Amino acid sequence: MTEKLPGVKHIIAMSSGKGGVGKSTASVNLALALSQLGFKTGLSDVDIFGPSVPVMLGLQNAERPLMTADQRLVPLEKYGLKIMSMALLVDAESPAIFRGPMVTKFLQQFILGVAWGELDYLVLDLPPGTGDTQLSLAQSIPLSGAIILTTPQDVSLNVARRGLRMFEKVRVPILGIIENMSGWTCEKCGHHSDIFGAGGGRQMSEELHVPYLGSIPIDPQIVSGGDRGEPIVLSLPNSEVSKAYVAIANQLIDQLSETSTLSQLGAF
Ligand code: ADP
Repeated sequence: MTEKLPGVKHIIAMSSGKGGVGKSTASVNLALALSQLGFKTGLSDVDIFGPSVPVMLGLQNAERPLMTADQRLVPLEKYGLKIMSMALLVDAESPAIFRGPMVTKFLQQFILGVAWGELDYLVLDLPPGTGDTQLSLAQSIPLSGAIILTTPQDVSLNVARRGLRMFEKVRVPILGIIENMSGWTCEKCGHHSDIFGAGGGRQMSEELHVPYLGSIPIDPQIVSGGDRGEPIVLSLPNSEVSKAYVAIANQLIDQLSETSTLSQLGAF
């Protein structure tokens, strides 16, 4: 349990060195996988550069979130998840607020200022990159750990190292690396092609001594499902992609239950 968010057991940050690598897609599907495994799960979208979570969950026309008497935002609920996104309150066309020193304070409201209730896991869709905003968020939110999402062609060790150093600086454990858009298999002929290369994520995790959480293949159904507001983990649970997300969720559950047992024993 975290002091700043009593009732929330674990906060997991999904991060990436740059935008467009599939961070929001991964946040949504991972949160749904955790929920399907029977855990109370929330998802907060503070990706100022592309707050796409509401669309991916079919909530783009949802009512604005209500406030509790003590001025906390009431999360929306869909597919068993509790959801908050800055896009539900802020017009995406007016990004002026997303500059300057107030931005972290503002984003914190969508994480710490939310009436989440009891949650086993809260997944955060962080803004891409490793700048001041990400650093101050990592510092001010009681994270259990961070995931680094990359694509194979994007595997620049420098970008990954920057992310790792940023989280290390503020003593946030790295839960592991996920490689997204890792190869494509033709559903008609079964031919496999590593369009963007493959294996870079695993290699990077070995070099940097952090866990490798898994690879998510390229699947056009991810795109159509995301656009329809029906994430693939729900619409095609037997697809390779969905199985990969569930395997990653299981691995995270194991890792985080080990750390909480160790901290309860006073090992940390
Ligand atoms: P980010 O949050 O990193 O900016 P998004 O999650 O918005 O990225 O994804 C960018 C685009 O890539 C979206 O259209 C999404 O549907 C697509 N996408 C993400 N992961 C995959 C994948 N494994 N296969 C195919 N398309 C994907």
